[in-house]
Amino acid sequence: MAAKILIVEDEAKIARFVELELLHEGYAADKAADGRTGLDMALRGGYDLILLDVMLPGLNGLEVLRRLRSESAVPVILLTARDAVMDKVSGLDMGANDYITKPFAIEELLARIRVVLRGANRAETGTGGALRCGELSLDPARHTVTYGDTPVNLTYKEFLLLQTLLENRDIVLGRDTLLERVWGFDYLGETNVVDVYIRYLRQKLDDAFGVKLIHTVRGVGYVIKGDAP
Ligand code: CA
Repeated sequence: MAAKILIVEDEAKIARFVELELLHEGYAADKAADGRTGLDMALRGGYDLILLDVMLPGLNGLEVLRRLRSESAVPVILLTARDAVMDKVSGLDMGANDYITKPFAIEELLARIRVVLRGANRAETGTGGALRCGELSLDPARHTVTYGDTPVNLTYKEFLLLQTLLENRDIVLGRDTLLERVWGFDYLGETNVVDVYIRYLRQKLDDAFGVKLIHTVRGVGYVIKGDAP
């Protein structure tokens, strides 16, 4: 059955655009134009995912999220403004599964929706645990990485970077996204740190095992995907 998604967004044009894209992708979709209506609809249940704008009239998105989380574990992706760093941090603290910054490319939103829905399914069927890509396996709980049967030693940041790539397998992640997720919003160092750490990972994985897992997408970012022939 098609996953059902609730769009809580007061900007009618954006809501309509996202709705059409979701329908086109085969999802079912409903819309709510203010926080209170969105919260009521979300609490009534029946949704597989909530897309929740932060800047909403009535009840703002973070307040909706806070109230929703006291009763429901339904996956939530926040739609945040570009400079609203605090919204992202508190949103994730308050139990949002992911966020996307406006203005966003619809392809990225659809990709994040797929990841969150896949994660929700995995949690339900209890087959979570190790993240894999071909022979590569990363176990977040045990903090171990193996390629085949061979252990791979990674530093803390290398591990986080690889985990982020694997959680988004087959999805291209921009440098800014990787920087935020691995180094944090308040990182003030060199911005090429992502490229440097990608190089470390490639040495320890691609070069060491003679495979090609980490791909560069010119002008966009990086993606980890299976070792295609
Ligand atoms: Ca808004």
